[in-house]
Amino acid sequence: MNHLIKYTYLSIFAALITIFLKLIAYFLTNSVSLLSDAVESLVNFASALIAFFALKIVQKPADKNHPYGHTKAEYFSSIAEGIFIFFASLTIIFSAFNRLFYPKPLEKISLGLLVSTIAAVINFFVGQTLIKVGKKINQLH
Ligand SMILES: [Zn+2]
Repeated sequence: MNHLIKYTYLSIFAALITIFLKLIAYFLTNSVSLLSDAVESLVNFASALIAFFALKIVQKPADKNHPYGHTKAEYFSSIAEGIFIFFASLTIIFSAFNRLFYPKPLEKISLGLLVSTIAAVINFFVGQTLIKVGKKINQLH
C-alpha cells in the first residue's frame, strides 16, 4: 500500500504547480477569467486535502472522548469546503464587478494562455498516470 503514497505526492505536486502556473497566467494577463481559474484550483486543492484528513479521522474507531465514533469529521470537512467555495465565489464576483466598473486592458494574452496550457498539459499527464496506476491496482486485488 505504501507505494501509493508517492502517487499522492504526485497529485499534490501537480495541484500546487497548477495553482502556481494559473496565478502566473493571471498576473501576466490581468484576466479575471484566469484569476477565477486559479482560485478554483486553489479551492479544489484545499478541499481535497481536508477531505483526505477527514477520511483518516472518520476511520478511527469510537473511543472514550468520542463514544459515537468520528464520523462527524466528515461534516466539518464539508462545512470547511463550503466556506472555501463561498469565499472563492465572493473573490471572483468582487474582482469581476471591480473590473466591470474599472476596466483594465488585457496584456500578454498569448503568453498567459501558453502558461495556462502548460498547466493543462501537466494535469493531463498526471491524470493519465493516476488512471493507469488505478487500473493496475484493481487488477492486483
Ligand atoms: Zn476520539
